[in-house]
Amino acid sequence: MIAFDPIYTYPVPENHRFPMEKYALLHEQLLWEGVVQKQDFFSPKKVSFASATLVHSPQYVKDFIGLTLDERTRIHIGFIQSQQLVDRELTLVQGTIDGALYALEDGIAFNIAGGTHHAYSNRGEGFCMLNDQAIAAAYLLQYRKAKRILIIDLDVHQGNGTAEIFSHTPEVFTFSMHAKGNYPFVKEQSDMDIELEDKTTDTVYLSLLKEALTKLFEKHQPDFVFYQSGVDVLESDKLGKLNLSIEGCAERDKLVFEQCKKRQIPIQCSMGGGYSPRLSIILTAHTNTFKVAKRVFDI
Ligand SMILES: [Zn+2]
Repeated sequence: MIAFDPIYTYPVPENHRFPMEKYALLHEQLLWEGVVQKQDFFSPKKVSFASATLVHSPQYVKDFIGLTLDERTRIHIGFIQSQQLVDRELTLVQGTIDGALYALEDGIAFNIAGGTHHAYSNRGEGFCMLNDQAIAAAYLLQYRKAKRILIIDLDVHQGNGTAEIFSHTPEVFTFSMHAKGNYPFVKEQSDMDIELEDKTTDTVYLSLLKEALTKLFEKHQPDFVFYQSGVDVLESDKLGKLNLSIEGCAERDKLVFEQCKKRQIPIQCSMGGGYSPRLSIILTAHTNTFKVAKRVFDI
């Protein structure tokens, strides 16, 4: 199942510096290419305060919902706060929780948005306000749906918020592979970080990832995986700094999905970043993630 992006039902915020269009267009692209069917989508409700505060401080969530965040936090987030934005964030987070529950039944589920990995326990930054996969991971633990969770974050930017949130939670292993010289410039410590030099190419990237994944799955023995599949690793990305080809990016997804399929571990996948100047490249790369999953999971 795939969580529908709520931006589709709202006008795009006027102030955006962020390719919001990609979320609505990805939905269209997946249907147009016949990768998924209309009935594969679901529309989540808004996440509850109780779920959001499994990882975020109550005061921060109150300020976020009540549009009373201080100016410094608002600047770090990068969006002008609005009711639409709050509603969208609350909905996309529930999409990831619901997706995780679908994945427990079906093996794999997606959020067409999400991957808001820069959101910390008590603040947001980098276009991220609530950390969807961190909240969903805490939800699975809280309701005893999983015991050992692995978060695989392959967005080009470090999953700094996720690392901070779970820094004292041994049940959740955080893995981030990202560009060393990219935002966030002061990084957190994930349980495992792989820092890549600028212009890292497919061969180096894929061999490092393959080795790391085998080790991680064997050592941590997860019973649930969250995957942040940002496509800002592409050579064409204006914020990325790495040099992955579109084929290399799809091969990256395949390595992650194959580990889960082989070991029968459910996986929830959120889209994450993607800032290539040509929207068609972003859409092709995100669509490939779904295509690769279909092939690997034979669905
Ligand atoms: Zn990113």
